[in-house]
Amino acid sequence: MSSLPHSPAKSAALSVAPGVEHHRVLIVGGGTAGITVAARLKRAGVDGVAIIEPSTHHYYQPLWTLVGGGAADIASTVRPQADYIPQGTRWIQDWAAEVDPVRHQVRTRGGLCLSYDFLVVAPGIQLDWDKVRGLREALETPYVSSNYDFRLAPKTWEMVRAFKGGTAVFTHPAGPVKCAGAPQKIMYLVADHLRRTGLAGRSRVVFGSAAKAIFGVKPFAEVLEGVVKRYAIETRFCHNLVEIRPDSREAIFAATTDTGTEQVTIPYDMMHVTPPQSAPDFIKQSPLAHASGPNAGWVKADKHTLQHPDHPNVFALGDASDLPTSRTGAAIRAQAPVLVENLCAVMRGQTPPARYDGYASCPLVTAYGKLLLAEFDYDGKPSPSIPFLNTLKERRDMYWLKKYGLPRLYWDGMLRGRA
Ligand SMILES: Cc1cc2nc3c(=O)[nH]c(=O)nc-3n(C[C@H](O)[C@H](O)[C@H](O)COP(=O)(O)OP(=O)(O)OC[C@H]3O[C@@H](n4cnc5c(N)ncnc54)[C@H](O)[C@@H]3O)c2cc1C
Repeated sequence: MSSLPHSPAKSAALSVAPGVEHHRVLIVGGGTAGITVAARLKRAGVDGVAIIEPSTHHYYQPLWTLVGGGAADIASTVRPQADYIPQGTRWIQDWAAEVDPVRHQVRTRGGLCLSYDFLVVAPGIQLDWDKVRGLREALETPYVSSNYDFRLAPKTWEMVRAFKGGTAVFTHPAGPVKCAGAPQKIMYLVADHLRRTGLAGRSRVVFGSAAKAIFGVKPFAEVLEGVVKRYAIETRFCHNLVEIRPDSREAIFAATTDTGTEQVTIPYDMMHVTPPQSAPDFIKQSPLAHASGPNAGWVKADKHTLQHPDHPNVFALGDASDLPTSRTGAAIRAQAPVLVENLCAVMRGQTPPARYDGYASCPLVTAYGKLLLAEFDYDGKPSPSIPFLNTLKERRDMYWLKKYGLPRLYWDGMLRGRA
């Protein structure tokens, strides 16, 4: 640790004003990252932990892809939040509204003032539905859906089943999204469904993506290029969805070319939209976030120790953080043990010893019964966790792992601090 404005030891000595509820460790967000960290802190014997989390339910979002493809039941992706708040951890069912890292305080929308010795920031990513003109109205029609919402993922499958040929459009927005593979996984499932139901010959599948390539990690991108070819998918890269006209069923893209940006209109008969995403607004406005630059709005965290560079009693992980890796639950599974080990060390006045190498994994479903398990680190190097298995090809066993193994690992292992 180099020149830091204040030390964690000082933070513990702050006096607590009347009306302020104090916690040794305060976790903002009880999603994948927040609950995993809370469970691990409990196992490490840390007392005085509280979680601010507004939702009564906890969701296993990775399965929403299979829900949208008609291969999983939405009810299996949700459980009561209360069952996953570790015993002895206080659950504050409210929204964090403001963070003051100098006074070590968080204010909630419900009017609470909470102080902390140590803060873990994990409120996830914000879905910016309103950034695409006409999207909300279009989602009211039977022809547009999104697996990025619990209520809409089952609608995706209804839409796909009702589709009898025509143009099926899939979008990937500009900027970071959670699970960068999810916008195309549903496309492969639909393309496979069209093939199996004899509708492929009467259909055109278009991928309108703001990205420059199918996937950011080369060895996996090469396999996916083959998948795209197999299904004869029309890829439109550097195409950012900016508007939907639900009445005429038209998708409007801002397409970037060497000479500038032009507007491209693609008519659709069904469309799966991945909404633009950003850090939650209260995080963007807080001093914990980058004020400007390419990481503007995301919480600062040292990419190896996950400690905030300006406030050493603050740690961040998961989708809201600026960690330069893929925003996935799999990445959080690797981040959480590092964060907890380092937080415990800092509580003892020591330097953080553990290091996160950027591990993330994206299980890319490429057909019913086929999956490409992309695992990689900060350097974009394939980083397989199962030795002697060729994960540079589509595999049947990995599909079953995603459908049955990983949900179990999540609910019974990760959220309990065991895996
Ligand atoms: C369709 C889809 C497919 C995916 N597929 C995969 C996959 O195959 N593999 C994979 O590993 N990952 C996948 N993911 C991504 C994975 O679900 C996320 O990366 C992961 O859940 C992020 O964890 P998090 O804790 O950062 O955020 P979340 O789990 O989203 O939790 C954030 C929590 O913070 C709470 N919150 C929000 N605002 C506030 C506030 N102001 N105050 C307090 N609490 C707040 C929310 O209620 C929420 O509970 C997928 C996601 C989607 C949507």
